[in-house]
Amino acid sequence: MQRGYLAKGFRDCLQRCSNWSQKGLCDGTADSETNRHLSCAVTPDSGANHAAVCKPDSEKRVIAIYSKFCESPFAQLWGICKVKTIIHECTHFTDTFNSQDHMYLDSEAGAMIFARNKPHQAISNADSIAGYIATFDGVNIAP
Ligand SMILES: [Zn+2]
Repeated sequence: MQRGYLAKGFRDCLQRCSNWSQKGLCDGTADSETNRHLSCAVTPDSGANHAAVCKPDSEKRVIAIYSKFCESPFAQLWGICKVKTIIHECTHFTDTFNSQDHMYLDSEAGAMIFARNKPHQAISNADSIAGYIATFDGVNIAP
């Protein structure tokens, strides 16, 4: 990936997602029905997904949070965690990276293999982009 592309996209993510409201976040008030109205996803909370965004309506910056997100660790950056999920979702907004989910990746080694084999997909893959700032084997930034 090109440094300028990443720098611009991360600036956009920070600018557009830094005022993100945590309304109902993990307090039990954001149920599947609520999330269905907040996102384009019609999939109820099956326990498999962490979060979702409504890309065509990126302007609202809504991230639907599923129960699995609430159960995940805060910042264990070598695996799935809340910090990486939020970064991942922010990269999907059309005015940030407009990323896709070509491949879900949960390790630095896996992301490197994917990037070598599918560079044209890795540059727009949400987990690949998030991994550039939040995948460090063995790192936990939680207090
Ligand atoms: Zn995604």
